[in-house]
Amino acid sequence: MHDETGYQPLRPQAKGLGEFLAPVAGFGVTFASMFKPVVTEDYPRKKVAPQGRYHGRHQLNRYADGLEKCIGCELCAWACPADAIYVEGASNADLPENADAAPGTLAADSPDGAHMSPGERYGRVYQINYLRCIFCGLCVEACPTRALTMSNDYELAGNSREGMIYEKQDLLAPLSEGMLAAPHPMVEGTTDTDYYRGDVLAATQAQVDWVRERRPDDETLDAAEAVATGKLPAPTLRQHEMRPDAGPGEAEKAAGAAAVGSVRAPATGATTTAVGSVRHEGAAR
Ligand code: SF4
Repeated sequence: MHDETGYQPLRPQAKGLGEFLAPVAGFGVTFASMFKPVVTEDYPRKKVAPQGRYHGRHQLNRYADGLEKCIGCELCAWACPADAIYVEGASNADLPENADAAPGTLAADSPDGAHMSPGERYGRVYQINYLRCIFCGLCVEACPTRALTMSNDYELAGNSREGMIYEKQDLLAPLSEGMLAAPHPMVEGTTDTDYYRGDVLAATQAQVDWVRERRPDDETLDAAEAVATGKLPAPTLRQHEMRPDAGPGEAEKAAGAAAVGSVRAPATGATTTAVGSVRHEGAAR
């Protein structure tokens, strides 16, 4: 039915008691909601952990002996569709701690001498611009050493544009108890491949001695020595810092190999002890 203005209501006009209560009927929804469970979050007083798959702030991970996983290869920067990552790599041999080495005596890929990361190079500069980052995770996929993963930290806000550019020290994972602060040599008898395979379990006494000689006040020395001598368990890595689970092929390769605390000689399958610092390929990661 049209009124004089031509307006036609979609619902029929209420009559009698319905017409009388119509002005307060909308409050019925509000009243009924008072007895339903509250679904809003009391943020920021109460912080709710997001799902494990949430893409939050990035983290640069470490190995169990404290060395950094990033080798400064820049693959993450090249993979980034938003051009949000800037990386500069440098040679471990050029670290100031190696300045005493006679020229030519410390090869760039030598396991001896000071290292920030295993192998030849490390990430000297690492920046992520969170005003550009779209949290797609392609950088994580590109990283060959699982140095870069994404945490669940979603509190990314700042007062300035400069403050939203996170530097390496903002992104680097803190040292877990038992890790030895870098720089220091790699675990004796290992190569960078042993590290990439997840075979290094903890710092060794030789690494502790190296650091104690040069940085006797280093706060990580005591806990690292306790781990190296078996008084403390090896540092545990969080799930997102570890390699994905070993596939069936890797599990077969591990069959008959040594237990935790040893590393298999690549060609023969024989084992060599390394003071509990390395573990066999295919062990639970
Ligand atoms: S985070 Fe990974 S991909 Fe990026 S520079 Fe370091 S090692 Fe390379």
